[in-house]
Amino acid sequence: MEKIKMNTIVEMDGDEMTRILWKMIKDELLAPYIELNTEYYDLGLKHRDETDDRVSVEAAEAIKKYRVGVKCATITPNAQRVEEYNLKQMWKSPNGTIRAILDGTVFRAPILVNGISPVVKNWKKPITIARHAYGDVYKATEMRVPEGKAELVFTDRDGKETRETVYDYECPGVLQGMFNKDSSIKSFAHSCFKYALSTKQDLWFSAKDTISKKYDQTFKLIFQDIFEKEYKEDFEKNGITYFYTLIDDAVARVIRSEGGYIWACKNYDGDVMSDMVSTAFGSLAMMTSVLVSPDGNYEYEAAHGTVTRHYYRYLKGETTSTNPIATVFAWTGALKKRGELDGNEKLTAFAEKLEKACIDTVESGLMTKDLVGLWEGEAKAVALSSEEFIKAIKAQLEKAL
Ligand code: NAP
Ligand code: MG
Repeated sequence: MEKIKMNTIVEMDGDEMTRILWKMIKDELLAPYIELNTEYYDLGLKHRDETDDRVSVEAAEAIKKYRVGVKCATITPNAQRVEEYNLKQMWKSPNGTIRAILDGTVFRAPILVNGISPVVKNWKKPITIARHAYGDVYKATEMRVPEGKAELVFTDRDGKETRETVYDYECPGVLQGMFNKDSSIKSFAHSCFKYALSTKQDLWFSAKDTISKKYDQTFKLIFQDIFEKEYKEDFEKNGITYFYTLIDDAVARVIRSEGGYIWACKNYDGDVMSDMVSTAFGSLAMMTSVLVSPDGNYEYEAAHGTVTRHYYRYLKGETTSTNPIATVFAWTGALKKRGELDGNEKLTAFAEKLEKACIDTVESGLMTKDLVGLWEGEAKAVALSSEEFIKAIKAQLEKAL
């Protein structure tokens, strides 16, 4: 078979066990079939340190240029990592750096397999969570206060003050000030509408505007306004809808739904709900993640981390059974997007076949250890090492090519 040709995507290598899987996936499942055309950035912690983390910035700039990237999981350094890798400093998370440069929103979606049922039995299709990863409680200013009066004071550029009493404390208590910006909320809305169109799924957005009449109301109005002006027609053409509801109503509807939509959440709601939804769907190892910028750049990755515990076992020479599926789907996500943007049907078709090969392999009973405990399918579950599992996917893929 002649190898499939493609335009450039940005490839970001990473750390630990996922770095090992990254190479296996490329060698076994991609390079034999595609003339892999990637611009390579090594975001492994050692190389980030050597480049004073410039490599993370360069990778983000490259995604802006080529519009599509695929990223391996990376270590976010903490004090222990600074020591372990003898780092010059505690570098920031590359995901944070890339997100700040692309100004994007992260969408997390589960990969569904027959035989592993969501805890919520009526969920039949994926539920994708979009989290507004800016501001709110994550950037809030807080105080513990004694008795006394707390006020919210805003000073405009001309020095004019607006004051509101927050609370007159008759005993000690706590106080918090949080903010958000129209520009960030607008970017969030654009990313959500774009991703809904890109995946042809309905978009839900939830907040608590009945209680938060300025803060949450602003989110609601910005979404509504952008939808009416820029996306309504395209949504109608694609047969999808945009729908706003209160967060508590959304929670009730989500649980009763069959899935198949994108649920956009404010920062804190998204943090909590994405963990709930991913746990209820089964496994973090089966969760994909894509960063979508408001101007339509896409960066794909697995939602899980570098699986450190498995890596330490691997270093001791033990074979591990780390699940590569979310990392494979990061690659297929990027390849499908490249194919879609360029009208490269062969590339898109290949990526779809590779995704199906992963799912068919698990459905035939061959899987990594993490899935065995969740398995309820007919076939007898066989736990394979990462390497054996990737070989099994390859055999399945070759049947389909
Ligand atoms: P993790 O790498 O997601 O792993 C947590 C545990 O989940 C593992 O020990 C394993 O459980 C299970 N697991 C996750 N992915 C799996 C897979 N593909 N196959 C099988 N089991 C899987 O989270 P972490 O241990 O908290 O973090 C490790 C490193 O990853 C940290 O340095 C963190 O900074 C980084 N991280 C990076 C990203 C990213 O780049 N996007 C995201 C999160 C964390 P068992 O050990 O019980 O088998
Ligand atoms: Mg969380």
